[in-house]
Amino acid sequence: MASNKVTTESHNENAITLAAALGLSQEQASKLLNLTVLVTAHEGDPIGLQFAQEVSDLLVRTVDTVASTYVEHTNVEIVIGVAKPRTNATAIYVSLDEQRAVISSHPCATSASQYAPKIFHLIAACYTSAMSLYFATGSQLPSGIQDPLKIIFADFGIDPASVEQPVDIGHAYLAGAGAIGNGLLWAARHLNFYGQLEIVDDDDVSSGNLNRQVWFDTDDIGQPKAARLVKRAQNAFPNLKLVPRQQRLQDLQEHNHDAWLARLIVAVDSRRARRSLQREIPGEVFDASTTDIREVVVHYHKQPNLYACLSCIYEQDEEETTRERHIADHLGVSIEEVKTERISDASAEAIVRRFPKLSGAAIAGTAYDSLFKTLCAEGELKDVSDNRVVAPFSFVSVLAGSLLALELVRRLGHGHRDTGFNYWRLSPWHEPLPRRRALRPKQSNCEFCDEPILVKLATRFWENKETSRA
Ligand SMILES: [Zn+2]
Repeated sequence: MASNKVTTESHNENAITLAAALGLSQEQASKLLNLTVLVTAHEGDPIGLQFAQEVSDLLVRTVDTVASTYVEHTNVEIVIGVAKPRTNATAIYVSLDEQRAVISSHPCATSASQYAPKIFHLIAACYTSAMSLYFATGSQLPSGIQDPLKIIFADFGIDPASVEQPVDIGHAYLAGAGAIGNGLLWAARHLNFYGQLEIVDDDDVSSGNLNRQVWFDTDDIGQPKAARLVKRAQNAFPNLKLVPRQQRLQDLQEHNHDAWLARLIVAVDSRRARRSLQREIPGEVFDASTTDIREVVVHYHKQPNLYACLSCIYEQDEEETTRERHIADHLGVSIEEVKTERISDASAEAIVRRFPKLSGAAIAGTAYDSLFKTLCAEGELKDVSDNRVVAPFSFVSVLAGSLLALELVRRLGHGHRDTGFNYWRLSPWHEPLPRRRALRPKQSNCEFCDEPILVKLATRFWENKETSRA
């Protein structure tokens, strides 16, 4: 299937990710991704056909070919409901009923697909993509795979009957229109949010982004992410006004007021960026992150906050330090420069001396992480195999976005919800485990919680304010 959703660079980003996970060269991984996935649903199964579309939309960004009509040389066939396989390829069977989705290498459905809130089917589509890729690439991924994968909808801790009820998100800010920001709105199509969402991102869409930023296609390359995301997504949200803000959150004009950031949704792409958002003293934080393809983390807190903040959860770790050092080494700038996150004019000049193909004016002001990922995907950095900045696959980012959307329903919606936790860590390769939810305490030495002045300001700004209905 010809597609305007996969480019050479986005294929390379997937290959880099797979190479890092499997310990292969990028070239070997690239060949492994030359895959054809056939998706089979019975024509008399409308819910199964919808599910087929959900899976295809994700996998088309990961493998070379996703087909719904018979193709030769199929590597994996996804068989939905009571449909029969059309090939002898490795089959992944999906059974959908009201309470759960079962994804298995053995037939598991006994009836046509049944209704469940669509967001749960999207989540099941993420796991189906994971199992398909796992088997298609030779069952070597170190994560392993649970087989069968049983996605029990009640495990998300939100009464399924109320998931699609209207949810007032008030006036909220989304920091980051990249993979997770895209995933959030991709998932929220299936929910009923109203209010106003400011989408804040100063970056442009690059070709490599298309492997995971699910609203974008080749027409968006080189254009501002925030504006393109609004353009693509707004029609799906009749009651939610999306406002593009092509800046960093820290540079918005309203930033100069006290207590301006009542509700922040965090979808930025680095630990450091998350910590700097915490310094904006947000009243209420909904956050999701991915650790390459290994895990997804969801975090929530609200001021005055007795428990972990963004800076507690995303404290500086060794991996981050190592990566920043490598970015500095490869780009020819100091590590202190890399820690500022954005490329200064002086650094842009230094980088252009090393990479004459680049334009200083074009890279000044952009993120070091983004430039480094782009150079890796373009093959400009040949010798960085162990230290590449690995981007997640589409289904990992969309899983993170889906869980973030569900947190908004959980905390702002009505009806019965489990809320006694501020942190949930999930694997895209294993069933979601409610027991992994935790109420994480503050970290000692947290750069926010250990600063009495910041804690005092947070209390003063947000005490006695009902941000949940702001
Ligand atoms: Zn903290």
